[in-house]
Amino acid sequence: MPRPANRELLGSWLLRLSYGLGASVTDVLGPGGLDVDWRACPQLLARLARETGRPRAELERMTLSEAHRAAVRGDFAHSKGGMFAGCHAYCPACRMDFSTGLEPPVSTIRDAGIWRLTCATHRCFLDSLEAAPSVPPRRAQRMSRLAPLGRSQPTQAPAFARAFERAADRARRGKRLGPAWRVREPDDFIAAARELANLSLVQLVFRACRISAASILMLDPDLARHGWGRLHYDDQLIDALPTWPRVRALASAGLLLLAPQATRRLKVAHWAAARDPLAKRLLIEQSPWDLAAQTWNRGTSELVLERCNAWPERLRTPAATACRAALGRFGLR
Ligand SMILES: [Zn+2]
Repeated sequence: MPRPANRELLGSWLLRLSYGLGASVTDVLGPGGLDVDWRACPQLLARLARETGRPRAELERMTLSEAHRAAVRGDFAHSKGGMFAGCHAYCPACRMDFSTGLEPPVSTIRDAGIWRLTCATHRCFLDSLEAAPSVPPRRAQRMSRLAPLGRSQPTQAPAFARAFERAADRARRGKRLGPAWRVREPDDFIAAARELANLSLVQLVFRACRISAASILMLDPDLARHGWGRLHYDDQLIDALPTWPRVRALASAGLLLLAPQATRRLKVAHWAAARDPLAKRLLIEQSPWDLAAQTWNRGTSELVLERCNAWPERLRTPAATACRAALGRFGLR
């Protein structure tokens, strides 16, 4: 039986426990996908304590509502997951340090925040458990020897993504931001980041090709290939996304929020993923707003133009300019 890791979430430990037993996590939790990362009912805690021999108080401290008593559920990632609802974020580099990579990774309270993008130790992007296959555990164990659960290869987070994570943390504590950001008032920054993350996930579908602003800004075609994003704007989308697309959508929002001088200072055009010559040229020659607007269809550009009327001026101007230019290419403005 695996011991709970330092600050491990209850759902993560139960997944590892059931995996080791060759059982399904729903055998342990019952059907219905209880959100045990947030709260576990007294009956479940009593049963788990009895059957695993671990103190009930220890198990309860592995839930977010107990570990962060002043918090609300919306402060933490919340996705349906392949098998049960929860936070599901983990660091692929931490996983490589502590396990063989064959068993499910450990998700911790530290990485559970909805604005967390990177591992504080390794500075790589967090990944999600959602890639875990929804097949019987015995078969999953066999499959995992061929292809470990999750995506597993760490991706070093670029400086702008870590700067955005720090800025979001500061804004959530009510502190004003510096000149690196187009929006500096804390509440406005959070509202704009949410809105831009949702907008950056709107997909343009052209025959077999699906692209979104997030996929092009993060130079990550997989983001669209996996179907994250919608043709229609959804202002709640970011709240329920799995870690992997959420992290990239938030990083995209960060790029759109960066002031031009910070885009240069943080060497946006030189981050590792931009080694592809075409992508690098695009990032040097075009602003993130121009790149993003190229992926939007007519309806989305018009939506951005409409919504940006309510944004602070330093954000509204580049958004409107880029969208008008994109619409101009359609001969619409
Ligand atoms: Zn790590």
